[in-house]
Amino acid sequence: MGTGGCAAAVAPWVWKPREEALLAAVAAPLVIPPVGDPDAALLRDRAREIAPGVDLVLLERKMRAALEESGGVGLAAPQVGVSVRAILVMLDARGEAPRTIWCVNPRIVRRSDALQDDIEGCLSIPDVSGLVRRNLELRVAWCDGEQDVELDVSGFDARIFQHEIDHLDGVLFTDRLVGPPASTAALRPLREELQRRREQGLVGDVLTPDQIADLWTAAASTDRLP
Ligand SMILES: [Zn+2]
Repeated sequence: MGTGGCAAAVAPWVWKPREEALLAAVAAPLVIPPVGDPDAALLRDRAREIAPGVDLVLLERKMRAALEESGGVGLAAPQVGVSVRAILVMLDARGEAPRTIWCVNPRIVRRSDALQDDIEGCLSIPDVSGLVRRNLELRVAWCDGEQDVELDVSGFDARIFQHEIDHLDGVLFTDRLVGPPASTAALRPLREELQRRREQGLVGDVLTPDQIADLWTAAASTDRLP
């Protein structure tokens, strides 16, 4: 049973040959293969804890470049073919001052009982979006150099942490859908319609099956507007 954090791994650290090759190609951008591609098979594996003192500068730099290129709000190392427990999370992604943090051996320390539904997509599953139920608030911890740090997050920040940490455990958001899968083109209309309904007090944090069906219908008709 791993304790996570800075002092987790016991075995001597080794990169796998494929990981070493990806990192050695310093100038080559990291690729995010889609689910179904043989290179994406490791998305179903549990990623390895990172030992203290491992040099991650290059992995972080290359993952930051890949995330920026993708336009996404979070990225986990297994998505770029490196099966280790490291993620990037954009905090305040929908706000005024978004910033992307690098988290090694991240883990969820505490979860709120309160849940919230929202529409998610994934850089590894380019064609699909859908409604996922997540804990509204979390306390997360990770290793920052030599030290464990903890942070309380809520809403969309908490959602991104849950989505990215799921990747480290071989779980995809499509495993957690609470409604029908939708196309990626429908992601924005669904999310905006959900937001509108929430602001109007028509739906709460958690949707009933009827409200989900209704949301899909409404977003589809919004989508057809010129
Ligand atoms: Zn993802």
